[in-house]
Amino acid sequence: MIETRALRYEYPAGPVLSFYDVDVRQGGVLLLQGKSGSGKSTWLALAAGLLTPAAGEVVVANQPLSKLSHGKRDAWRARTIGFLPQKLHLSDAMSVERNLALSYFAAGVPENLATIRRALMALGVRELAQRRPSQLSGGQLQRVALARTILMEPKVILADEPTASLDDESAAIGLKLLRDCATQCNATLVIATHDARVQQAFPAAVVHLMARRQAAALS
Ligand code: ADP
Ligand code: MG
Repeated sequence: MIETRALRYEYPAGPVLSFYDVDVRQGGVLLLQGKSGSGKSTWLALAAGLLTPAAGEVVVANQPLSKLSHGKRDAWRARTIGFLPQKLHLSDAMSVERNLALSYFAAGVPENLATIRRALMALGVRELAQRRPSQLSGGQLQRVALARTILMEPKVILADEPTASLDDESAAIGLKLLRDCATQCNATLVIATHDARVQQAFPAAVVHLMARRQAAALS
């Protein structure tokens, strides 16, 4: 579940963003829509505890993020959130498998090679485990990114424009993988998107239209 209340973020030397409240139940699917610059990526970063709000509260999987010390937040995120960024950076200094193993290190738990291999298998890229990321195609990298997202069986999956650069067939496969992963973990799934294909793939999803709140509406 995710609840936000009176959430506000101020970019240093940038805009002040005030968000309408969001509620999504555990296991629910939320589509964050809204034009470019409306604050979708910022909201995802706030929900992941990657950014700290100037005001308001975010509760994710029953955890009020304001109650987590900065030191605990990273390990909490690593255990709880599957974050699928618009472009995942993987280190080319190590194999795909070693890149995924870093998730365990970040979460402070022993690494589990069997789980990594199972996740890569589930996404049809098991044979790529020993390759370097630069030896993979865009579509293969996207599957690896998805495998990484679900590795820790997250309670919440946050995906930022996951279909933006994909053709119809790859988009359909990627969305099905996201849906299957979320169902398997009973995870709450949030997808930031302005792609009509995503809404078609999740007809029952709650849609939240991201819009800039006017300063006057705050008082
Ligand atoms: P979206 O994901 O919907 O396109 P963003 O959350 O990326 O929107 O951006 C919301 C607003 O914040 C935009 O006006 C954008 O220019 C601004 N913004 C985003 N990142 C920064 C940053 N690091 N510094 C200053 N302004 C930023
Ligand atoms: Mg964005």
